[in-house]
Amino acid sequence: MSILKIARMGHPVLRTRAQPLEPADIKSPRIQQLIDDMFETMQEYQGVGLAAPQVHESLRLFVAGLPPRPGDDDDEEEEGEDDRVPLMTIINPEIAIIGGDTADDWEGCLSIPEIRGRVTRAREIKVKAYDRRGQRIEISARGFTARVIQHETDHLDGVLFLDRMASFETLSYLDEFSKYWSRGRNVREE
Ligand SMILES: [Zn+2]
Repeated sequence: MSILKIARMGHPVLRTRAQPLEPADIKSPRIQQLIDDMFETMQEYQGVGLAAPQVHESLRLFVAGLPPRPGDDDDEEEEGEDDRVPLMTIINPEIAIIGGDTADDWEGCLSIPEIRGRVTRAREIKVKAYDRRGQRIEISARGFTARVIQHETDHLDGVLFLDRMASFETLSYLDEFSKYWSRGRNVREE
């Protein structure tokens, strides 16, 4: 496996609508290797999501999730539950928004390092996609998981989280975010 180079804001690949994968190609060694490398890259940079265009591959594919933390099971605090994101590989996603509820929360992006800003997203979604075995899947997600899936799917359409900000008043460098806004919370890049 290898750690891939991440495209930063300004690279045209981040502004290009990515191509769908043919279901028959999903199981190819090239795509399976790409998925493994994307997981390794995401974990190396402590991200919570990574889309293929962020590693210079203009394909409708992303990985997301956090390995479970020790003590997760015994600690059922409300915020902790919202922050948990299962490991997933999502290919050719189609998102449907469920209900009209939105949530406003901080985001960061591996392609816009050391910056945080608040973004409004749908609170609950359903996603139809293929998984890494080429099987059709349908998942329901809410809270932070739904936020990550929306952020990553935006990358497949050439959209960055800055485009989704209603106002830039909360746009912060990481040092200032930690000092004035975070209240000790770690907001991962994705
Ligand atoms: Zn991002």
